[in-house]
Amino acid sequence: TGSKPDISRTKSAELYEKSKTYFPGGVNSPVRAFKSVYGTPLFIEKGDGCYIWDADGNQFIDFCGSWGPLILGHNHPKIREKVTEVMQNGMSFGAPTALENELAELIIKNNRFVEKIRFTSSGTEAVMSAIRLARGFTGRDKILKFEGCYHGHSDSLLVKAGSGLVTFGETSSAGVPKSFAEETIVIPLNDKTAIEQAFTQFKDQIAAVIIEGIPANNGLIIQDEEYIKFLRKICTDHGSLLIFDEVITGFRVGFEGAAAHYDITPDIVTYGKIIGGGLPVGMYGASAEIMAHISPDGGVYQAGTLSGNPVAMAAGIATLTELNKSGFYKDLNAKAQEFVASIQRFATARNYKFKVFTIGSIFWFAFTDKDKIQSADDIDAGSMEKFKIMHRELLNRGIYLGPSGYEVGFVSSAHTKIELEKAKRAIFEALDLVFKK
Ligand code: PMP
Repeated sequence: TGSKPDISRTKSAELYEKSKTYFPGGVNSPVRAFKSVYGTPLFIEKGDGCYIWDADGNQFIDFCGSWGPLILGHNHPKIREKVTEVMQNGMSFGAPTALENELAELIIKNNRFVEKIRFTSSGTEAVMSAIRLARGFTGRDKILKFEGCYHGHSDSLLVKAGSGLVTFGETSSAGVPKSFAEETIVIPLNDKTAIEQAFTQFKDQIAAVIIEGIPANNGLIIQDEEYIKFLRKICTDHGSLLIFDEVITGFRVGFEGAAAHYDITPDIVTYGKIIGGGLPVGMYGASAEIMAHISPDGGVYQAGTLSGNPVAMAAGIATLTELNKSGFYKDLNAKAQEFVASIQRFATARNYKFKVFTIGSIFWFAFTDKDKIQSADDIDAGSMEKFKIMHRELLNRGIYLGPSGYEVGFVSSAHTKIELEKAKRAIFEALDLVFKK
């Protein structure tokens, strides 16, 4: 098999020409611009189950899932019905509704790690607020983050970050005051000495250590459980809070996310993506004692005109109700693991420098021969050229991956054996082409 002809992008290209006159880079979030892969971005018209269709009518099996939220696939009937039902009564009140209680109860009753929560409208807001809470609670200013971890686009966290920043080769953002960045200590993942040194150098100044439960924004860089336990201990010893940013991992690797996966109790947890079932919802939560510092109970201010929006709550309730059913994660993870294992077997049998790093229903295609990648530095930026070829070949075979080799892919409950078989065959062909068989 050789390269397939490129899919038609006439309509997408037209829309892109127009969007470039309206938005920087033609998009409202940078990675969507297809800057690091081949061709113009595809404008998506419709999604159903594990499929999406673009403006030119091309159909794809989707492994991006809106970057993680769509664990049940696109346009899930239960979510659509609940949202439609709630919408009949109006869309926003800026006053409490019973729906917020309903979603909160679903979360808190099934999660050992939070006693009280606050809903926001994005992951960025959730994490930004969690940082403020940690600072307010401890009375300290500095935070410690890890190179390659992405925590949204608030000022303190855009220092040596993953996602779109690493994709475009500039890991810290312009426009963040030097004095803000100085309050953010950045160290490599998987390096105990670096963290010990930071705690020695900045004794009694570190409000919080923040880590993605399972780092998934700079490739999938899975940490050893023992290292995360070490983080937990060093935070406790120094009176710093441990924040798990579970915007990707929450409700993804299991209903209780990475915290349950490692059996580690963080002090503050942040969620996003899946919690809103495709609508804009984020959340942070902690013990009642810590959350008592949030306004109007306490002095840490945080608010939102559309926070707890009823339509968004409806999508969250419908989604989490499905996820909470017995066997959901067992089935999804087994299906995803079988899928990635067969891709790995294919690559290994042919001696390709290719590894699939994976956990639960998250996977990352890495063009490497390393068995473990545990820090951002372990990734060879040159290998992204191979991803670029793969991405193009896969689009041409009806498979949609997020347009960056640093981003992970997601299997949803809507992917059936049939689509996964089809995707596997396409991936095998693409790998053969990348490695020029
Ligand atoms: N934290 C993590 C771990 C994320 O992956 C993201 C988004 N990919 C965010 C925070 C920010 O969330 P949002 O894009 O909803 O603001």
